[in-house]
Amino acid sequence: MSAQIIDGKLIAQQVREEVAVKAGERTAAGKQKPTLATVLVGDRPDSAAYVASKQKACAELGMGSISHNLPADISQQELEKVIKSLNDDQAVNGILVQLPLPSHLDEERVLQLISIEKDVDGFSPINIGRLAQKGREPLFVPCTPYGCIYLLEKAGVMIEGANAVVLGRSNIVGMPAALLLIGKNATVTVCHSRTKDLPSVVRQADILIAAIGRTEMVRGDWIKAGAAVIDVGINSIPDATKKSGHRLVGDVCFAEAREVAGFITPVPGGVGPMTIAMLMKNTLRAAEIQDP
Ligand code: NAP
Repeated sequence: MSAQIIDGKLIAQQVREEVAVKAGERTAAGKQKPTLATVLVGDRPDSAAYVASKQKACAELGMGSISHNLPADISQQELEKVIKSLNDDQAVNGILVQLPLPSHLDEERVLQLISIEKDVDGFSPINIGRLAQKGREPLFVPCTPYGCIYLLEKAGVMIEGANAVVLGRSNIVGMPAALLLIGKNATVTVCHSRTKDLPSVVRQADILIAAIGRTEMVRGDWIKAGAAVIDVGINSIPDATKKSGHRLVGDVCFAEAREVAGFITPVPGGVGPMTIAMLMKNTLRAAEIQDP
């Protein structure tokens, strides 16, 4: 039996349509367009492309965007000044600082400065702290893990009581994904580069979230029959049949895993499109919080 493919592209499109309708209703009621400020430091092409696609999404959904493209050698003090001015700017509902920042900048201090009501990436210590505490709710959930859980729920996967394994413990994906699963009453194991005998841990998983950035490392015989597999990994491999000379694959060997799993996300077209969709959802939520 081949797994049911969870179509992230379609589900992301549905989220975007819902956000566009609600954003349109707000502007029709005379409220300000939900508006995202992006802060890009330096000229990394991948970061510039991510920021451009976030701004494009804002335009497509009838939302506003304001961009701050800052030089790679900006000082910590100058960058903090920009963040503070965005915190104070009523025209801005959400603030997104594109990571990673150049190494001379203190990322933690920058993220900490973002007003919690505008922290649409959900990375401020207050939002993450709330996510980690029982009975507390963050104002915003980090976009990629939020997308992972949203896909599981849309596919009808039972999270409560499930054994979930998260591969990766990064601040932006693995750790918040694990916290979200715990909040939804899964029993969660978090694996990382020092985990022993990864295949046998993964074989216990009813739900697997793979976020390690290792090309097709998770093989079909690691997967429990019927498991739900969410593949966050984005890895580029050479492919002479493509015009670009390469193609994207996940952290899971899709061809093998789909023969065993109950549900699986493809790469591309799985988690990837969800990240921006959830950012748009968070930006709308920020506007709703600031101007109910
Ligand atoms: P990251 O910060 O590099 O973290 C990778 C995590 O994987 C770390 O916790 C690391 O363990 C663990 N790891 C690495 N190699 C491992 C191994 N051989 N066995 C077990 N664990 C291992 O990466 P990230 O930012 O979380 O991203 C993970 C992947 O998701 C990447 O492919 C990235 O491109 C992708 N991604 C996709 C989206 C999207 O929108 N779809 C968004 C963000 C990221 P240690 O902690 O021990 O080092």
